[in-house]
Amino acid sequence: MPLSDELRDVAIEFHCPVCSYPTVRKGSWLRTVGSFKCESCETKVRIGYEDKLAIFERHLRKR
Ligand SMILES: [Zn+2]
Repeated sequence: MPLSDELRDVAIEFHCPVCSYPTVRKGSWLRTVGSFKCESCETKVRIGYEDKLAIFERHLRKR
């Protein structure tokens, strides 16, 4: 399953795996990013393709 194009302009919430702090970013950002820095615990979190799929899927299921 490819990363859905329909979420490009949608704000998607995901959580830091270390401290569970929620981060909200647009789908377009998520699709291209390889890692991000948690604003709370400052951990550099890697986001692989599988992680992105899981985040997108979770968001789609919530609607
Ligand atoms: Zn964190």
